[in-house]
Parts: sequence; structure tokens; C-alpha cells
Amino acid sequence: MRYFGVVLAGGSGSRMGVSKIFLPCGAFSVLERSVMPFLQDDRTDEIIVVLPKEDFENGKNILSKYTQKPITCIVGGQTRTASSRLAILALKDIVGEVEKGEIAVAIHDGARPYMTLSLLSRIYDAVGETGGVIPVVKVVDTIRDENGTLNRDSLVAVQTPQCFDFYMLEKAISTAGDFTDDGSLFEKVYGKITLIEGEPSNRKLTYPCDIPQSSHFLIGLGEDLHLLVEGRKLMLGGLEIPHIKGTLGHSDGDPLLHAVADAILSALHQEDIGALYPPTNPDFKDIPSTVILHEVLARMHAEGYTVNNLSVVVHAQEPKLSPHRRNLECNLAYLLDIDAEDVGITFKTGEKVGTVGNGEAIYVSAIVSLIGE
Ligand code: MG
Repeated sequence: MRYFGVVLAGGSGSRMGVSKIFLPCGAFSVLERSVMPFLQDDRTDEIIVVLPKEDFENGKNILSKYTQKPITCIVGGQTRTASSRLAILALKDIVGEVEKGEIAVAIHDGARPYMTLSLLSRIYDAVGETGGVIPVVKVVDTIRDENGTLNRDSLVAVQTPQCFDFYMLEKAISTAGDFTDDGSLFEKVYGKITLIEGEPSNRKLTYPCDIPQSSHFLIGLGEDLHLLVEGRKLMLGGLEIPHIKGTLGHSDGDPLLHAVADAILSALHQEDIGALYPPTNPDFKDIPSTVILHEVLARMHAEGYTVNNLSVVVHAQEPKLSPHRRNLECNLAYLLDIDAEDVGITFKTGEKVGTVGNGEAIYVSAIVSLIGE
């Protein structure tokens, strides 16, 4: 069987006030998130996306950067059913005449950005049973009609994607009228449809409050290694640590501050310090790493973030660093303008093997979290 995805994003989104498919949902738009599981799923061959007429070019443009499998964009109709019919016609153009059991189509709401790969996979797995599959979840709200409260135990809410044998669905469409969703149409015509358990998180965005607000919380990882040589100062965390060898570098060679600076830049999705302060530039010769960190913090503030906390691991065979823990914590806290309790440092030796274990280098990993100011 070959599998195709259809994303119905042609609705007007009148309850949302704006076209909800372009609203941000994390780092991506609602539209991209609704299409993504089909892109990532191994079984899905091609995807048809139905877009609103007024937003067609914009939607098509957003999806044009995803090239891993063919995406056909078409203009939607006045209703969901009309849009679904147009998608079926477009799929017919792609696959031509088919037999039963040859093609499966999963039809998904463009306003459900939280579909998981596992749900899509379970839907595909079950389509052979009756030729039609719908995911359902238990109703949590108490529901009533004009006659009073309904028995919640017998109620389920229907989700998408709904998956169908394409031959059977097409035949059902040609024999029945307008239905709110393809599942009810299929069941009406064939008398049977397979229900599988949906996912509560796979909710449909309907009202403005359904769109998650950005948490303004970032995490960054940075790492750095500097060789230890005689005739240099050992700079660590902005402090000079007494030792017979020091850190080699174009700057003052502070691996801890470099790791922290790179962690912040990584969280901000900016170029690393190697690119910003290239060792080929004589202007940066012997530059204090505190200056580099200061400039990186200025970039962070310009993006509207502040450091929340820092966690570092310092790998050094020698010198013994644990006596410097409190000084390092306090100096890092001061440089980052955070509380010393928000700085965590772990010291590891190199077990006397490798560059670090032989005392030839110091290696630092740093993780920072940033919060929106
Ligand atoms: Mg470095």
C-alpha cells in the first residue's frame, strides 16, 4: 500500500480573528507543524496541502523550503467538505485509477499542530481493517443537550488524521452528500469504521487562547579546550589560577569563559566566538576573555534575554581546582550578573589518559539557560 497525506488548512479561522495557520507555534508556524509529521514519516509518499485562496502564495512559500518529499498546494473551497473533495481530486490526478487496498490517504486538520509520528503510524497500521480509521479521545467536559446532561462514558471526541482506503473513500463520496467529516461519510456508506485511541495533546487550535505563548526560555551548550604550556598564565573563569603552566590561546585563553560565551551564543542561535573573534585577527591578540564575554552578554541583552543559570564541567588533571570552587562560582556569578547559587561547577580529572589526563590541556563544557527579559 502507498500512503498519502492531506492537510486541510483552507479554513477562514474566523473564531481566531486571523489566519491561524500562520501563527507561531514554537519555532514553526501552525501550518508547518501540521505538515511536519507527514514529512518525517517514512511511509508517506506525498502530501497535498489545501490553503486558503487569500493566503495561498504565502502558505506555498513557507512550505517550499521543505523538499524531502513532494508537497502539492491547492486552493481550498468554501467549506471543509469542499476542501477535502478538492484534495481527493488532486490526489486522483497524482495516482490515477486505483484498486482497493492500493492507496491510503490520511486527512488531517491544518489547525492540529500536535499530531505525533506514532499516531500517524498507528492510523496507517489500522487502515487495512475496515478501510477507514478515526482517532478518538474520551470527553473530559460534561456535555449536555436541551434534554439535560449526556452520559460522558459513552461519548468520544473525534480527531484527525483520519485515514481511508482511497478507492473506498472516492466511491463513498460519489454516492453520498455533504458531511462534516470524511469519517462520518465513510461510516454512513459502509456501516463500519475502525476507532483507535487518539492523543489528548493532538488538540485543534480554535480560539486565540489555544495558541501557546512563547516561553522565552533558551538553553545553550558550549565547549572549549586549551593547551597548557609553560610561560603562560592559567586563566579560568576570569581568574588567574596559580600553576606552573598556563592556557595557550590567541586571547588570554580562558576555556571556561569561552565555553560560557559559546553556550550563550548557541542559545541565541548566533555565530560562535571562533567566528566573531577569529584568531587570525591581530586586534584580538591577548584580548581578555572577560571582554569577549561582556560583548556576548551585550548581544544577549540586545535580543531581550538574561542569564538564568549556568552549569559547567571542568576537565583538568592538574592543577587541583576544587580549592578554587567558591572563587570561581562567585566570579562567574558576578560576570553574568546572577546569584552565586545559580552557578554549578563540577571538576573532573582525565583519569591520567588522553590530552587532559596527561595534564596537557583543560577542557570545559558549559550549559546556560536564558530567560526573556
Ligand atoms: Mg577558546
